[in-house]
Amino acid sequence: MNILITGGAGFIGSNFVYYWLEKHPKDKIKVLDSLTYAGNLETLRPILKQIEFIEGDINNREIVSESLKNVDTLVHFAAESHVDRSVFDPSTYWQTNVHGTLALLEEAKKAGVNRFHHISSDEVYGELPLDSDAKFTEKTPYSPRPDNLYALSKAEADKIVLDFYQKTNMYITISNCSNNYGPFMFPEKFIPIIVCNLIDNIKVPLHGDGRNVRDWIHTRDHATAIDLILQKGRAGETYLVGSDNDRSNGYIAEKVVDLYGAKQNMIKHVSDRHSNDRRYAINATKIIEELGWEPEITRSNFNEGLKETIKWYKENQDWWRPLLKRKAMIMDRTKSISAYISLERETGKTKFVFGQVENSESNVPEKLDTEEHFVQQNLVRYEIVIKNLESKKWYQASPEAIKDEIKTLGINPSTFGYVEDLSSREEKIGKEKVLRLIKIDHGQPELGIYSILTWFEVESLSGIKRQEGYYSWGLGPSSGSKFLVIIRREGKITHIALRKVQKFPRGGIVYDLIGGLPRELNESLLDIVTNSLSKDLRINVLDGDASIIEMISLGRISTDSGMTNNHPSLYSILLDLSKDKYPDVQYGDLFEENEGIVLWPIQKLNELINSCDESYFLSAISRAIFNSVISL
Ligand code: NAD
Repeated sequence: MNILITGGAGFIGSNFVYYWLEKHPKDKIKVLDSLTYAGNLETLRPILKQIEFIEGDINNREIVSESLKNVDTLVHFAAESHVDRSVFDPSTYWQTNVHGTLALLEEAKKAGVNRFHHISSDEVYGELPLDSDAKFTEKTPYSPRPDNLYALSKAEADKIVLDFYQKTNMYITISNCSNNYGPFMFPEKFIPIIVCNLIDNIKVPLHGDGRNVRDWIHTRDHATAIDLILQKGRAGETYLVGSDNDRSNGYIAEKVVDLYGAKQNMIKHVSDRHSNDRRYAINATKIIEELGWEPEITRSNFNEGLKETIKWYKENQDWWRPLLKRKAMIMDRTKSISAYISLERETGKTKFVFGQVENSESNVPEKLDTEEHFVQQNLVRYEIVIKNLESKKWYQASPEAIKDEIKTLGINPSTFGYVEDLSSREEKIGKEKVLRLIKIDHGQPELGIYSILTWFEVESLSGIKRQEGYYSWGLGPSSGSKFLVIIRREGKITHIALRKVQKFPRGGIVYDLIGGLPRELNESLLDIVTNSLSKDLRINVLDGDASIIEMISLGRISTDSGMTNNHPSLYSILLDLSKDKYPDVQYGDLFEENEGIVLWPIQKLNELINSCDESYFLSAISRAIFNSVISL
């Protein structure tokens, strides 16, 4: 076999390359990888003479077509794979995961490659409730969480692959796998963070309540599954791959700490990650029964897999230490401002830092013409959303006029997020059954925020029917971001920037965070931040007025769940003001009744916390303190 493996310098791809070399020594192996921050040529160094390594982007048609010469089988791993980073830099995710996959399919077809296997993820199915035994199967409808751009882009790619199969009849298969662990895993991922932090005596961060469940599979078992699919998988079929090993993150943290021989007090709870899906679990019956796949490490001997992984990270510090310093460069839409993303080991989160990138290894991807690609991207995404909606009983029972209205809202970029949110709504909420949608009231889009009031008919257990309404945003509930801006001058933290505002339901001044809703769907966080700083604080980071030292996610907040489905993200931003820059805003510590932006002195923070009743501010400040972002 002449096999081309894309993404073979990444975590799972490289494990697959080693597996294939050992299992099929006569085959010719080519690896195509653009060596993003996640790709590492060092991983393949020991075998570089036995394979052909091509450095290149899967979107570069020329390189792809050249790489496909004399190839009969293509296994496609290349992807942007980290959910946390997708928030900062969504367009790179679309570029690689969606457009890159299409480019590979088209070039493979042209080159007469007769076998194509696409690697996907279980995240395309969304999340399962914690208190159930349900598992994903090949029949589970696609329902990626609207705020999980990684999952959305993988779902989109799968759809493109399946459509391509329908159109061309090329011999294509897909596998959707659960969370992998094993050697060569980038130290930003959960299990390596635990081990690497323990090695360096740094506390192990556990996100949120630690109850989120992932189904863990060893990369070796993933490789044997792909091998079998390549040999015996049926064209056009999807195979779910998992080792029946669903475990809570809390369990994993405790187990790894225990197997490492450390004390349980090394675990530290920190605020939740962005878009931390509740539970994934895979039913792998199809690949087991149809292809005879047998994973080596399952629930019963999971400890062995973990022990082996701990030992690997202990013995291969030369491999992972340099990766901790890696910086993934990103740019805003105008390409006029850049920042890099790196890992914060104490919170296990990605940190966003403005400044010079010393690391020449960082790649700066070309930005997409987003307007043009938006329509293409969202047509596929739209189909998934409408399919999900149509599978809901409450939607089927809704009046035709409302269904038509929803479909129209779905093709409007300003309201697509709302429809996407509707499509993931449950049939039952609490003890009440959702019967149907009865009315949609629209806010005034010209105000800049497209708000929608949605009315459902619901029924209680005792059969009482009533109307339930809630407010939503056009871009979806998770589209907003609020920033706790901490001001630093000459090395000292001096102020916190807040917005004094009268809130409609009650009146009276509250102290809110700055930031808010994005201007359009999938706007990058970098764009929202720079926009918000210049609009609210009247600070231009481009002019050197200030630099963002770091930005850390403080998780999500449901401010007033019930009345709205508002579920935005909170971030802290440490902003260094140049020596003589005084933002043109109010300074002071007086509880005055005038609206506007205020810089509140840090010495009087205690006073503000004790008198303020604004949930964004209070959540952000308490998380910032508990996560050691600031201390009082
Ligand atoms: P990874 O981030 O470790 O590796 C991805 C590799 O792809 C890197 O080597 C990177 O340099 C390369 N790459 C990225 N963009 C590229 C581009 N435009 N052109 C060429 N190469 C590019 O990811 P991983 O964890 O090894 O995941 C591999 C695949 O498996 C992905 O498709 C992912 O969606 C899927 N998957 C991963 C998991 C998991 O637990 N990690 C679970 C299920 C599915």
